[in-house]
Amino acid sequence: MYKEIERTALMLKTSRNTVVVTGAGISTEAGIPDFRGENGIYRRLGEDKVMEIINKDCFNSNPDHFYLFYRQNFQSYAEIQPSHAHFALAELEERGLVKAIVTQNIDGLHQKAGSRRVYSIHGSADRYYCTNRSCQQGYDQEYVDSYPLTVPCCETCDAILKPDVVLFGEPIKNYYDAVHAISGAHLLVVIGSSLTVYPLAGFVRDYCNSNQDLIIINKGRTEMDYAATLKVDTNRTGDFLNQVLDRL
Ligand SMILES: [Zn+2]
Repeated sequence: MYKEIERTALMLKTSRNTVVVTGAGISTEAGIPDFRGENGIYRRLGEDKVMEIINKDCFNSNPDHFYLFYRQNFQSYAEIQPSHAHFALAELEERGLVKAIVTQNIDGLHQKAGSRRVYSIHGSADRYYCTNRSCQQGYDQEYVDSYPLTVPCCETCDAILKPDVVLFGEPIKNYYDAVHAISGAHLLVVIGSSLTVYPLAGFVRDYCNSNQDLIIINKGRTEMDYAATLKVDTNRTGDFLNQVLDRL
């Protein structure tokens, strides 16, 4: 692993614009099961069922059904602390060595660790907003947890609240910022993603066509291993990044 640590440190030092892409793998180190992993919701309940309910049509037509399922199966991330890997990325940004993070995760752990420029393309599970367009008031998890009914409503206008996450059938959030950040990078570091979920996998694929450096840190193979300048096969990303930080 020593050689990989040295090379990563060197590439970070010499890159003028480094962007990081993160997937579920970075948050499993904080104790959050990967939706697609062994104890993940897709395995337990079946992907079809999840897609049917965590869907914008279901939310619009049957919010009771949606919220009953959502409340039972999507945990609150309020008590979960960022992993060493999240903190290491915040430190890299602080030192000017990482310009932005594009994440598929909805747990808010990058922000909690102190990262500032984070594009969460699937939204954030700890935020809610009022669906009345002329109101759109924001709410936190605490408000929703303590709401006396299954479907939480706005205290100002009484319209239904929607979790600030991208449901099936909805476009991703921060699309232009994410594409712009990735396509403008001179070094892209992918952490904890097998790069099978689109559109993010497509953004990374497009980036690779420009022949810029790509580092992939992931346990197991990914769809873009063939294009990586450096592949680090580990599920101890936090340790790895901390050792990289020691050499910067
Ligand atoms: Zn409202």
